[in-house]
Parts: sequence; structure tokens; C-alpha cells
Amino acid sequence: MDRKKLASLREKYANTAPGASHHPKFKRAIETIFAGTDRRPKPYEGVATFLDAPLRQLASSPSALADLDVALVGVPYDLGVTNRPGARLGPRAVRAVERIGPYHHVHETLPLHDIAVADVGDVPFRSRYSIEDSNADIEAIFSKIAESGAVPLAVGGDHSISFPILKALGASRPLGLVHIDAHCDTGGPFEGAKFHHGGPFRQAVLAGALDPERTIQIGIRGGAEYLWEFSYASGMTVLHAEEFASLGVPKTIKKIHEVVGKGPAYISFDIDSLDPAFAPGTGTPEAGGLTTREAMELVRGCAGLNIVGGDVVEVAPQYDATTNTAQAAAQMLFELLADVALARRKAR
Ligand code: MN
Ligand code: MN
Repeated sequence: MDRKKLASLREKYANTAPGASHHPKFKRAIETIFAGTDRRPKPYEGVATFLDAPLRQLASSPSALADLDVALVGVPYDLGVTNRPGARLGPRAVRAVERIGPYHHVHETLPLHDIAVADVGDVPFRSRYSIEDSNADIEAIFSKIAESGAVPLAVGGDHSISFPILKALGASRPLGLVHIDAHCDTGGPFEGAKFHHGGPFRQAVLAGALDPERTIQIGIRGGAEYLWEFSYASGMTVLHAEEFASLGVPKTIKKIHEVVGKGPAYISFDIDSLDPAFAPGTGTPEAGGLTTREAMELVRGCAGLNIVGGDVVEVAPQYDATTNTAQAAAQMLFELLADVALARRKAR
């Protein structure tokens, strides 16, 4: 470095005022986050909410949804699991994660500041025992959010919650779907039950809420392939984990946009899509999965779709000794939120 450059850096940065920036791209973020001081909110203080969003509990406030762009909703429910239970504790574990955001360096957004976002609390369940009542409770809340014009982003809960959510959001027309998971979750009824986490996307197609031809499933693997006939019969696009690996992220993103198109779409992210090396805290782990970085790039690549809702499901914190699973889930929630923030900001 020559002396002239050093002198100019010194002049500009040696006595920088607290919370100041010369860079036009960062200036807005700095001014928003620091808000005229040299202090930022501490990531570990206050009452834990999703992504540190303000809390506006829907269960106690009828006006909670007013003027919201995005409603973050906890769905503490796991009556649909086929293996290890515990996803009912997922929302609490994801709320406890601190320091996700505030800036999204790819989309260049401050999602929690650029649009109106709130943690609207958890779905209030009437019964801790009834699968049918719980499904109806989920559908009712998501219908209410959809009517308000806010985009709901759910944190489960096991994957069976996606069926009542899709029923609510796809009531007037079937939705497209980006589904990232180790499992297709298009199984039929087993042992007298159809509202289990191995079948929400079959049920959603049969209910007329999901368009199988605008559905892509990515990361599929494990020993349950023999249960996914419905994915093929209905015309879903299935990308197994090894097919995704050889195709690569950019071509997969292209495929997502080809399949889903411009119509309304839902993004469903099962944390077991990630390799158990990254996300062990889940009920049905499968070796040979995506890396967290690949998954983040895929969700970022969904920007530009007409996203009407999404979820992050299957975090079971009792198998998550490092909290890495909850950390990854909170990050995926932030990626979903950033896609919506980018779209809503552009629409203004
Ligand atoms: Mn799943
Ligand atoms: Mn799964």
C-alpha cells in the first residue's frame, strides 16, 4: 500500500463517528440499525421471538395482523410423527436462536425493517390430543392470516402441518410448491390415519389446494421411496439428493422456476433435507443430505417466485445437542423472509 492511500484511509476512517458509514450501500443499513446512536439492540436480550421480530400475539389481539406484510407463526404440534417425537418444541428452539440477520447480503435487504413483520405467536390448539381438531385449528388461523393480506411463514411442528396450511392458502386456487426434504411426504393413509407427516402433499393435491404439475421436490433419499408413488402418478418433479448433487445449485434453481412458474407458490422446508451432520435434531434423519449452504442458496434462488406462504418444519430440539439444527432452521426462516421482503419492497 502506498503512503497516499494510507493517508486517505486515515483521513476517512481514523476518526469515524460512531455508527457512521461512507458507503452508500451500507449507509442505509447502518442508519436503520443504529438509529442515530452507536448502539445496536443486543441479540441476547429481551423476550425471545422468531428472528427478533416484534411480538403481536394473534390469540390475544384481533388487530395483530393489521398492516402486516409477513406473519411468523409457531405451530407447536407433533401428533403426526412416524418416528422420534419432539417437533412440538421446534418453535421454542427456533425463537431461542439469536443473531440471525439483520442484513441479507445477497438480496441487500433488511427484511425486518424494510417490510412489516411480526411474530404472531403460536396456533392456539383446542386439544393436545385430537389430530382432527388440531388440523382444523391450523387451517382456521392460516385462513385468517391469508385474508389479512400478510404472507404467513410457519415454524413447526412436524410436516403434517403443511396440509391444513395449504388448504387455507390454496382454498381459491391450487398453489405451486417448492418442497425441500429427504422425503416426498406423498404417502397414503397408514394405520387408520391420513394426517401424518408422511402424507401432507398427497392430501393437499387431493383437496385441490396444490398443483402437482407445479410442484418440485428436492433432496429426496432414504429407504421410503416405495411410498412415494403418488408424486410420480400426479406429475410432481422429484429431484433425489444424488440428482441434485450432480445437477448443482444454479441448474436446480432454473428448474424450480420452470416447474413452479409465475403463479402463487408455497415453499416448504423440512430440516431433515439437510444432512444430519448439519441438522441432527429431527425425528427422521437421513444420511446423504444437503449442506446448509446449498439449502440457503436454493431458498434464495426462489426469489422472484410469487410466494404466498412457507414453512420450516421438523426441528426436534431434544436430539439437537449443539443447537445447530435450530440455528439452521432460523437461518432458513430468514432466507424465506428475505425472499418475501425483496418481492414486497420491489412491489412498492
Ligand atoms: Mn417432510
Ligand atoms: Mn423429511
